[in-house]
Amino acid sequence: MFSVDELKAGFRDIYGREPFLIRAPGRVNLIGEHTDYNDGFIMPAALEYETRAAVAPRADRILRVHSAKIGETREFDLDNPAPQPKHDWTDYVFGVAVALAGAGKALKGADILVASSVPVGSGLSSSAALEVSIGYSLLTVAGLPIDKVELAKLCQKAENEFVGMRCGIMDQFISCNGQHDHALMIDCRSLEKRPVPIDPRARIVVANSMVHHELASGEYNKRRASCEEAVRRLAPVLGSIKALRDVTPAGLEANKALLSDVTYRRARHIVTENERVVEAADALAAGDLARCGALMNQSHASMRDDYEISCEEVDVLVDIAQKLPGVFGSRMTGGGFGGCTVSLVEAGAVDAFMTNVRTAYETATGLKSTIFACSPQQGVGPLAD
Ligand code: ADP
Ligand code: MG
Repeated sequence: MFSVDELKAGFRDIYGREPFLIRAPGRVNLIGEHTDYNDGFIMPAALEYETRAAVAPRADRILRVHSAKIGETREFDLDNPAPQPKHDWTDYVFGVAVALAGAGKALKGADILVASSVPVGSGLSSSAALEVSIGYSLLTVAGLPIDKVELAKLCQKAENEFVGMRCGIMDQFISCNGQHDHALMIDCRSLEKRPVPIDPRARIVVANSMVHHELASGEYNKRRASCEEAVRRLAPVLGSIKALRDVTPAGLEANKALLSDVTYRRARHIVTENERVVEAADALAAGDLARCGALMNQSHASMRDDYEISCEEVDVLVDIAQKLPGVFGSRMTGGGFGGCTVSLVEAGAVDAFMTNVRTAYETATGLKSTIFACSPQQGVGPLAD
């Protein structure tokens, strides 16, 4: 992680003046995977891993951004009438400028240095942390008011339209609206959020499988297409359904014959996952950690067998975790095909858990997992000196 001083010094080296600082967190999702783009329920928390931006205004209409992670400085002209994606990291940055300008925001030129401690492509949402840090920076430079729900929507639009990843609202929303020491149960249709305190008897532990399979974004868009197909086929019999959010497990079972086996299983993951999220939020809020954990375990089985977004290494990591003492539940978190798992672990058992998972995972796969216990953070905002 770049410290405040390192970030300021880095900015001075590149741009020769003083910046102000912004931070936007990555996230872990406790439960509710791929439900966001089905208008359903999710329960993420913002992490202490974050993207930090050092920012200063420019007198012209140029946006210049340096990524410490990539080691590259790139420029974008805010007056470019037809900006095109370059199919690299800058799409996440300039896509946000395009989305903000498209929403009528009068942006101004800026110099920006971004540094991030969010591991890239590990399902902890480095992309949204980058987008949100840039969006917040640009609005601040332009002296515009910041509505964090609107900012989340515009960053999602950037990723959907400029990057070409049809992600739901989860990552950008929690990076904008995260709440200290809480997970947020979010209704992705109304964008209503319910803060759920993390019971002090438990910790959220994230373990990185250290694998990411390249099919992630193509498969993601395919899953989304399957959900849309299920809605199209079920709508004639179920009435005015707009998304799988509107379908109950019973409604799906009764009309199973209308769907291919694959489409049925994809839909079954979503409709059962939605119910699990709502129940898990109640269980966590009521201190029923065992029930919350059992739902996380069921969520993993559903992702593995019905939605088919897990992979061998992640299944191994989850199996190891679920069998250890003091573990309430464990599942893959994030888009899938690798990345991280999230476990709910008894506070007193966390140290032993981390050691045992690391050892057993290395024995099974030869891979060294990085593991950490997290404390949920606030969403995007100024970074204090
Ligand atoms: P995730 O969001 O799970 O980390 P994604 O595939 O959605 O994975 O996004 C990863 C991409 O986001 C990277 O390949 C890179 O293009 C971009 N990115 C994220 N963080 C940075 C950063 N600090 N600097 C430059 N690009 C970044
Ligand atoms: Mg991402």
